[in-house]
Amino acid sequence: MQPTNITFFSTQPYDKQFFTKCNEQFGNQLTFLETRLNATTASLVEEGSVVCAFVNDKIDATVVKLLAAKKVGIIALRCAGFNNVDIEACRQHNIKVCRVPAYSPEAVAEHALAMILTLNRKTHKAYNRVREQNFSLNGLLGFNLHGKTVGVIGTGNIGKAFCNIMLGLGCKVMAFDIIANKDLESIGVTYHPLLDIYKAADIISLHCPLSDQTRHLINAEVLPFFKQGVMLINTSRGALIDTNDVIDALKSGKIGYLGIDVYEQEEKLFFRDLSEKIIADDTIQRLMSFPNVLVTAHQAFFTQEALTQIAEITLTNIFELNAKKILTHKAAMLV
Ligand code: NAD
Repeated sequence: MQPTNITFFSTQPYDKQFFTKCNEQFGNQLTFLETRLNATTASLVEEGSVVCAFVNDKIDATVVKLLAAKKVGIIALRCAGFNNVDIEACRQHNIKVCRVPAYSPEAVAEHALAMILTLNRKTHKAYNRVREQNFSLNGLLGFNLHGKTVGVIGTGNIGKAFCNIMLGLGCKVMAFDIIANKDLESIGVTYHPLLDIYKAADIISLHCPLSDQTRHLINAEVLPFFKQGVMLINTSRGALIDTNDVIDALKSGKIGYLGIDVYEQEEKLFFRDLSEKIIADDTIQRLMSFPNVLVTAHQAFFTQEALTQIAEITLTNIFELNAKKILTHKAAMLV
C-alpha cells in the first residue's frame, strides 16, 4: 500500500514525539501543523491527505466542505470527544470520521482525584508557603474524603475508573447515567436521579459527554439544590457547566470548591503560552481570582501511557480504514 499522507492540526511537541515514534510501524507520511483547523487553515491540507485533528479544531459544515473539495476521505480525531465536528456534514460529503474512544481512562480519573486533593488539602498553597519559610497551618484546613458522598455523572470509561478510585478511598458513590453499569453496582455504586445526587453529594464530578442534553447541565436552576459548599469537578467538557451561573454560586458560597480542566471558551486560551499577553476573557480571569478555584488547561489526559495509546489507536484506525477492514476499536467509528 502507498504511504498515507496525514496532516496534523493543533500539533504540540509531544504529539510530534509520540506519533513519530509510533509511526515507525506504519510508515505514513506525517505533516505536523501547529495551527488550529478552521475555514482559513483548511487550505493547508494536501489533496487526498488524511486529517488528524484535536479537541479545539473547529470542524463545522464549512470546514467539512473545504476538506471534501481537497478530497479528504478520513478525519481521524486523536481524542474521545467529538462535539467539535459536524458529523452530519461529514456523512453528506462521504468523509469517514474516527476517534480514540478510550485511552487510559485512568489518566483523566486520576487527574480528577488530583484536583479534589489539591482543592481540599491545599497542597499548592502549602508548597509555596513552606518555600517562603512560612510553616503556619492557618487557612490550610481540609476534610477527610473517607465517608464523604461523591456524585458521579456519566459512568463510561472515565467515570467507571473514577468510581473505583473514590470507592477505594472509602467514599459513598452515587451515580447518574442513561445506562447503569452492572459491574459498578455490584461493587457498591448506586444509581439515582440527578436531583437526589445534587442534594446528597459533597463532591460532584462530571464524566458525561457534551451533547444537546448535557449542555449547561449545571446551571442556576439546579444549583440551589446542591449542598452548601459542594465541591464541583469538571474534567469532561467546559460547556457542561454554565460558567456565569457557577461564578454566582461561588460568590454566594453555594459552591465551596471548583476544579475545572475544561472551560467553555477554552479554544481561545488552552494549549498556548499566553503569559506575555493580555487576556480579553473576563470570565476566566474572574474564575482565577477565587482562592477556591483550580483551573488546569485540559491536561487530564496528559500521561505517557495515554499519549502512547492515542498515537497507536489513531494510526491503527487510519490503517484499517484505508485497508477497508472492520476497525479493531469498534467505538472509534463515528461516520
Ligand atoms: P464514554 O463514552 O466511555 O462514557 C460516557 C458516559 O456518559 C456513558 O456511560 C454514557 O452513557 C454517559 N452519558 C451520555 N449521555 C449522558 C447524559 N445525558 N447524562 C449522563 N450520562 C450520560 O466516555 P469517556 O471516555 O468516559 O469520556 C467522557 C468524557 O470525558 C468525554 O466525552 C470527553 O468529553 C471527556 N474527556 C476529557 C479529557 C480531558 O483531558 N479532560 C480526556 C478524555 C475525555
